[in-house]
Amino acid sequence: MLRRSALPPRTWLPRGLSRCRPLHSPPPDRTSPEVISLLDTYSRLPPRPVPLSTLLSFGSPLSPESLLDSASYVLHELPRRLVHRVHSFDSLPYIVGTNPFIARTRQQYRSSFIALASQSSVDTLEDNWAFSQKLEELVKIHANDIPAMAKGFLESTRYMAPADISKFLDAAIQSRIAIRLIAEQHISLSRALRDPSSVSHNIGVVNPNCSPAEVIRMCASFVGELCEATLGSRPELIVEGVKDATFPYVSVHLEYILTEIFKNAFRATVEHHRAQKSTGPLPPITITISPSPCFLSLRVRDEGGGVPRNNMERIFSYAFTTAGRSAKGDSNDDDGGPYAAQHIGGSAALGTGLDSMESGDGGLFGEITGKALQTGLGTIAGLGYGLPLARRYASYFGGSLELVSLYGHGADVFIKLRSLDRGADVEI
Ligand code: ADP
Ligand code: MG
Repeated sequence: MLRRSALPPRTWLPRGLSRCRPLHSPPPDRTSPEVISLLDTYSRLPPRPVPLSTLLSFGSPLSPESLLDSASYVLHELPRRLVHRVHSFDSLPYIVGTNPFIARTRQQYRSSFIALASQSSVDTLEDNWAFSQKLEELVKIHANDIPAMAKGFLESTRYMAPADISKFLDAAIQSRIAIRLIAEQHISLSRALRDPSSVSHNIGVVNPNCSPAEVIRMCASFVGELCEATLGSRPELIVEGVKDATFPYVSVHLEYILTEIFKNAFRATVEHHRAQKSTGPLPPITITISPSPCFLSLRVRDEGGGVPRNNMERIFSYAFTTAGRSAKGDSNDDDGGPYAAQHIGGSAALGTGLDSMESGDGGLFGEITGKALQTGLGTIAGLGYGLPLARRYASYFGGSLELVSLYGHGADVFIKLRSLDRGADVEI
């Protein structure tokens, strides 16, 4: 475990990497001896998890000094994590690695690694501004990683066991969350110091006053429009409990989680209502907010018919979906739900989401947020990544996410999120 005081001095770089190129020079040739040496050097350095408080300490108080410390931390930590991702791609079965989607994602990790590992030290605020913009570009380049990997693995199911795909994805997503937190924390601090008027009370990725009610409103409005555009109508959403609760949390994580859970609840409600041939209004979805000293809990309750018993143990598997069944039905592996199930190894799940992946809004399946609405993109279901991703995000800081189904009536999703206050002993 690293304390900030134990971090290496700002000019620290792995041995042998001190002769850095100037900030704006082109990246080295990908197969040059310089790159091979960078890969070799960083491959020997394991990632070093830090307590969240260490990351946050760069912003409290935020000063030119602390920002340069943060840049130094990012520069020595991210290449380590990226190079390990590259290696995990390299350990996939050869034929899976040649899949265009997998190969492209691996290449992006490798390029990002090279960009950061060959970056010269950041010694001035001007250097830092250029560096933080470079970091923003890198974050954008990786926006489509999850759908790309999803498509790659769907095309590779003949060559890899579902359990191995899940293991790879779990590790990839866990590492992606950390990499993005580290990068986005630095980007946020850089913006805050450059233009103090642009930030309100919130410096850094953790919003000390994250308001679930506000995030709920934003996600419900986005998912409601998506639902109406896709399925023709939308249920009402009722907020109950402690509506004015706030807690320290990464707001964007809460957005990802709620967007996925709402998409499922809205879709189930509309489709179940239709399958029942009900003529009355759609039953509302109810979300209850319940704060406690260390956690904030949410319950999302819908009357969308719930999950058939046979599907219960698969709903948290990557690529398990009941979306995209043909009107006649092409499978009978559930026990009466409105749609037949696809899962890793299935074939018909592509129609509802993957085709629009190229449009590049950066998160059609796993990490879509209210902001994505501005690009007019999104799919209500179809990839089968919503629940596993939402659970990964919820559990990242020690929370949890469970779905309890009352088959025939509806489902409850219980989300428990760790308050990220100073005392939270979480590592990233
Ligand atoms: P997708 O929404 O792309 O199908 P998810 O991982 O979000 O993938 O959900 C997997 C499956 O779990 C869904 O296809 C659906 O069958 C089932 N499911 C999830 N949430 C609900 C819910 N609230 N009510 C009924 N079924 C649900
Ligand atoms: Mg979903």
